[in-house]
Amino acid sequence: MNVTDILTLQTILVGDSGVGKTSLLVQFDQGKFIPGSFSATVGIGFTVSHHWLYCSIWDTAGQERFRSVTHAYYRDAQALLLLYDITSKSSFDNTRAWLTEIHEYAQNDVVIMLLGNKSDMISSRMVRRDEGERLAREYGVPFMETSAKTGVNVDLVFKAVAKELKHRA
Ligand code: GDP
Ligand code: MG
Repeated sequence: MNVTDILTLQTILVGDSGVGKTSLLVQFDQGKFIPGSFSATVGIGFTVSHHWLYCSIWDTAGQERFRSVTHAYYRDAQALLLLYDITSKSSFDNTRAWLTEIHEYAQNDVVIMLLGNKSDMISSRMVRRDEGERLAREYGVPFMETSAKTGVNVDLVFKAVAKELKHRA
């Protein structure tokens, strides 16, 4: 493998507290669900289309409380995963405020993906899948429902982001 095949990407996870940002990251990094909140920011190496990617993923633990992740965080990010919790209508509604903030501070060409997490919690669902799809269309970004618990779509999300970024690199 050639060194020029190595790309470094910076991705940040944003969204209301409790939507599952840390859990999603832990699931991607370690392939398991560890209940309970804790902060985690990791660098993960993986291959996409024969390219080796080193992706540093920043989990915005705590700061979401203040509705403002530091501006440097946004400025340096190539990709942003905007999460809501499918069992929380307010977390879904709040994605609009998050997106406003993203557009204000992030680079214009940042890759954004809208994610409806906790897709395993079917009986407590408050946001329908088609509502998520509709909002993503309005925002002009891709959409997926994920479960940090079961791992559904978690690899796909990070690979889709990495692939998109690789095309632009
Ligand atoms: P954060 O504040 O956005 O980082 O959210 P956390 O990752 O700390 O998760 C908040 C709570 O939701 C914790 O109790 C997690 O165990 C739980 N949780 C996170 N993701 C999922 C998921 O996909 N399914 C279920 N059932 N619970 C989840
Ligand atoms: Mg967290």
